[in-house]
Amino acid sequence: MIILTIINEVKHYQNLIAGKLAPSSSGKTMESIDPATGQVWAQIPLCTTEDVETVVESARKAFPSWAALPATERADYLRRIGDSLTEHGQELSALETQDNGWVIRESSYGLIPVLKQIWYDAAGQASIASRGETTPLGPTSFGYTIREPLGVVLGIIPWNAPLFTFSLKAAYALAAGNTVIIKPSELAAIGSLRFGEMLAEILPPGVLNVISGLGSEIGDALVGHKGVNRVSLTGSGRTARSIVQSTVRDPKPLTLELGGKSPNIVFEDADLDKAAEGVTTNGIFTGNAGQICVGGSRILIQRSILDEMLVRMKEKIASEVQLGPTMDFMTSMGPIANVQQYERVCAYIDLGLEEGGKLVYGGRRGGENLLPDQPEFAQGYWVEPTLIQMEKNTARICQEEIFGPVAVVIPFDTEEEALEIANDTSYGLAAGVWTTNLARAQRMVQRIEAGNVWVNTYRRVGVELPFGGFKDSGFGKDSILESTREKTVMIEIG
Ligand code: NAD
Repeated sequence: MIILTIINEVKHYQNLIAGKLAPSSSGKTMESIDPATGQVWAQIPLCTTEDVETVVESARKAFPSWAALPATERADYLRRIGDSLTEHGQELSALETQDNGWVIRESSYGLIPVLKQIWYDAAGQASIASRGETTPLGPTSFGYTIREPLGVVLGIIPWNAPLFTFSLKAAYALAAGNTVIIKPSELAAIGSLRFGEMLAEILPPGVLNVISGLGSEIGDALVGHKGVNRVSLTGSGRTARSIVQSTVRDPKPLTLELGGKSPNIVFEDADLDKAAEGVTTNGIFTGNAGQICVGGSRILIQRSILDEMLVRMKEKIASEVQLGPTMDFMTSMGPIANVQQYERVCAYIDLGLEEGGKLVYGGRRGGENLLPDQPEFAQGYWVEPTLIQMEKNTARICQEEIFGPVAVVIPFDTEEEALEIANDTSYGLAAGVWTTNLARAQRMVQRIEAGNVWVNTYRRVGVELPFGGFKDSGFGKDSILESTREKTVMIEIG
């Protein structure tokens, strides 16, 4: 058994502004809490609008020379960032784990290779970022398009997957020639602050900046700042609405990656063993306790196989979901990342049962109940993997994003009914379909309203592929294309 040591001494982390580590201008800090133990383990800067001016100035100043670099040179920088993850990956994954509870097994083996792929993929795309098309307009004239960087791109990131969203937002924007400001969540900023510190050794000053503070204060001020040219948020619908409001007077391109209530649908002709894993340990009872935007939180099962699937799912959870020390490579599921979210998840479990749901699995919470032999976790935010069966899709726990290790099981009879339930949600982020019937798979893929559909697999990542949602799950993608603006040129040579 390998267990990484946790950090016991409270360490202070800093912003990265103009290539230098910096505290907040007021000197104020905030506490960061290890969700496994509920104890303070680090301090982060609590910046104000004064720091917002400094960080925007830093990114603006660095923009002209970064944008003017040949794309192949920008690509070199990005490849070096990918390479640096070989050396720094273990440290970053340990920080991410202690900061938001995503177990070390996934934050190391799962996350770090994906981060590398993102930076290498972005490096590969740098040289095509400015390409356009040529169109003849007559014997002596022609038109063409070129793509240019936008300027300063702001990446606002959530607490549930900080390094992943940091990389998606920064890598493609930098590849296209923009400079970047990252605003991590005040609830899990350490991985981003430390990653910024590492990048300061690679990138020219000001090209990438990281600033920590409250979303309602510095997040809002950054969004509305005239020196910021594009905003990419991964977060909640509430924050997205506030960003849309703040940009009404001074519109700028927005990318909004928001929540989900994704259906994971099992038909009677599916490989039931694979499906049982796909809807439980792979679908929702993940290393970060289901706090994943694409979590398959509505498990739709054809009634003819409902009893058999429930038996298989319960066996899978009982044998494979292991709560315990987040730094232990044997632990498969961690705690809820912060106390606000813990209370929200617990309230939704209670609500689901009040709404008439039948508890199929789990439902317990609290470190003292779930890990009684490990008193250090008594104050941590632990919730058992929980399945609640509902007959209809109308209850609040079927409609609202819970964002935790809680899924509803909803039976259906026909393909048409499955589709109706799947689309009966304001969200449209992801969906899973389990069937051995290719024609059925194809019919479902075409009619499901979701930005990402997996067939006979779930939660697979392909950094080469676009990722984003429909409906209330947002719009836009963190891509090279959306990191540029298109210019049209017409030339008369006659
Ligand atoms: P959140 O909206 O509370 O916070 C996200 C970020 O926005 C934080 O950095 C926060 O400080 C900042 N923020 C808050 N108010 C702001 C304001 N007024 N102006 C500017 N910035 C502001 O979201 P969260 O609770 O951190 O994350 C969970 C949510 O994120 C869930 O809904 C989840 O589904 C979603 N999410 C989506 C994806 C995706 O790719 N679609 C991925 C991960 C998480």
